[in-house]
Amino acid sequence: MGLAAALELARRGFVPRIVDDGTGPTPVEESRALGVNARTMTLLSPAGVAERITEAAQSIDYFRARSISKPLIELDTRQVKGRFGAIRGLAQGRTEVLLLEALAAYGIAPEWQTAIAAGEIADCRSPQVTLRRPDGSMQTVRPDILIGADGAHSVVRKAIGAGFPGEALEAYFYLADFRYEGPLDTHFAEITVFDPGMLGRLPIAADVIRYISTLPDFESRISHPAKVVEKTWASQFRIHFRHVEPMAKGNVFLAGDAAHIHSPAGARGMNLGIEDACWLAWLIAEGREQEYSALRIPAVKQVLKQTYGLTRLVTMKNPLAVAARNILAPLLLRFGPVRQSLLRGVAGYDTPRPPWIDWAE
Ligand SMILES: Cc1cc2nc3c(=O)[nH]c(=O)nc-3n(C[C@H](O)[C@H](O)[C@H](O)COP(=O)(O)OP(=O)(O)OC[C@H]3O[C@@H](n4cnc5c(N)ncnc54)[C@H](O)[C@@H]3O)c2cc1C
Repeated sequence: MGLAAALELARRGFVPRIVDDGTGPTPVEESRALGVNARTMTLLSPAGVAERITEAAQSIDYFRARSISKPLIELDTRQVKGRFGAIRGLAQGRTEVLLLEALAAYGIAPEWQTAIAAGEIADCRSPQVTLRRPDGSMQTVRPDILIGADGAHSVVRKAIGAGFPGEALEAYFYLADFRYEGPLDTHFAEITVFDPGMLGRLPIAADVIRYISTLPDFESRISHPAKVVEKTWASQFRIHFRHVEPMAKGNVFLAGDAAHIHSPAGARGMNLGIEDACWLAWLIAEGREQEYSALRIPAVKQVLKQTYGLTRLVTMKNPLAVAARNILAPLLLRFGPVRQSLLRGVAGYDTPRPPWIDWAE
């Protein structure tokens, strides 16, 4: 999110400084986010990044849900009208590289292996933080504006004394990415619901598919579409629904996972963070940054609500509830307004439209 904020600031004539305690962008094989939605494409279009994403990404034309015995739902994402398709698949590591390339055109590069040291920010109107540099030396800096886009365990959030209330789901989620031999059909994403449990299938690249599940033994349930070349990544994680409120204190602002975390259902996390970043950059340029939190909180709550509902729907265990879901969900989605509302969420069009974009999305 820091990269998106810096790019939007640089495009407007600011010279942001980016520090990151990592060694470089997310390795492509370890990408958490895959889905880039239409709203993100709109936001990254003025900087020329959306067009690069279009070239690199897989378009996802269908969302399918099925039980073991029969198809339940098919959503045609091409029903979402607009300049960009509702959602595309691109590994987060590759999206980050495209943002870095766009930033390089402004002569801006992150200072890698440079960490904001933990510690309290006493005066948030005039924030002061200490940086730990790659050679171990410390540097005290006093930026006019500090944007904490430092992830779920944000040091900046803790430094301003903000809590991160919410809840964690009991269940673990598991993922595995497989590279295949030969061409694959990457134009759809699919969820198979078991009784209980689920297995999701999402395209990452022309020859790579991600499987994500609530079942530890999920790999035995995968029906591989071609010969497996290698398992490129496997991981497991627990899902939290948390957000900070307000998202700013004085001249310290929080964006992305530092401000909100939720389940990957709906592919919203990175997209919502990029939205934060782009809104904040615009507000800073307008001299209205103090409006940031009030403008972003409704969007954050909307996305948390949507992802919470979707997650509960695919993780339910009660056999009666599972049976009712499998009957009701396909019926409900026959109604145009229900389908449209779901598709608007997939495209990211359910949060406020960016006012600085003057063309139809
Ligand atoms: C399995 C899974 C699938 C997902 N799929 C999607 C999807 O399809 N679409 C989507 O939109 N979202 C998705 N998400 C969510 C998405 O990955 C996150 O919302 C997104 O990565 C958050 O980005 P961020 O920049 O806010 O935080 P991070 O990606 O965590 O980046 C934080 C950065 O801050 C740096 N940092 C941390 N501490 C310090 C410090 N003290 N000093 C300096 N630097 C520091 C880190 O090195 C890191 O580079 C998914 C998440 C998971 C777990």
